[in-house]
Amino acid sequence: MSRIVSDIECPNCGAPLKLSPGELVATCRYCGYTSVVGANTPFQLEHSLIVNELDSTRIAQYLQDWMRSGFMKPGDLAKKSRITIVELRYLPFWLVPLTATSTYEGVLERISPPTQRRGAIENNYDWLVLGRKAAEFPTRDYKVPSEGKIPFDFTKIESKSNFLNSELDSSEAIAHAKDEVEENQRFLLKQEVDQVTRFDTTFNVEKPTYLHAPLWFVQYEYKGKSYNAIIDGSSGTVIRADIPQTDFKMI
Ligand SMILES: [Zn+2]
Repeated sequence: MSRIVSDIECPNCGAPLKLSPGELVATCRYCGYTSVVGANTPFQLEHSLIVNELDSTRIAQYLQDWMRSGFMKPGDLAKKSRITIVELRYLPFWLVPLTATSTYEGVLERISPPTQRRGAIENNYDWLVLGRKAAEFPTRDYKVPSEGKIPFDFTKIESKSNFLNSELDSSEAIAHAKDEVEENQRFLLKQEVDQVTRFDTTFNVEKPTYLHAPLWFVQYEYKGKSYNAIIDGSSGTVIRADIPQTDFKMI
């Protein structure tokens, strides 16, 4: 698929590690050893896998079920649509456990008279960061199924699947998680005050987990147009899918 920049050897078995530009974490396709590229001393990274439980036939069934259920979908969607592409991708994620404590001062204006408020918002998160920079994936809509999680086992990776290495190392993933969590804390603050005069967040970060999760990328055709869907290979949940526009007749 992508251009290969370097043929580094696997520190464990010596097999060539094929890496694409920008990839920072490498998983050997022969022995499953996962290491950080360019680290001074090679060290094995703790790595987990969410096991794929489905095949393309089951994926088609899950998508058909989705098409038949819920509102705002054309009534003949399941019957008239045709699946054109079904691809299993193992996407790399960092799961960052952290506690964020935001102290704030502000003014509550929705009551009269406006009053000064100060306080703290503290929350624990298991924040999910996608290890790819360009890929579009709705991480906030995806809950990592902890039940299907095992230590990484390369023999469980289907040879026809598309296995992607992470372009972010652990510290970049932490930085990313902090930014997004701070934004989330700021959002939660809107319940407490209307005007923010001071806002400071401190983080207590625990060790992130590196994991691969099976996601099915599906394309289907309906009335000559193409639509996309992403389905969780562990549970069959439709994480996100395009719904064709319909002309609703108001009677
Ligand atoms: Zn190896």
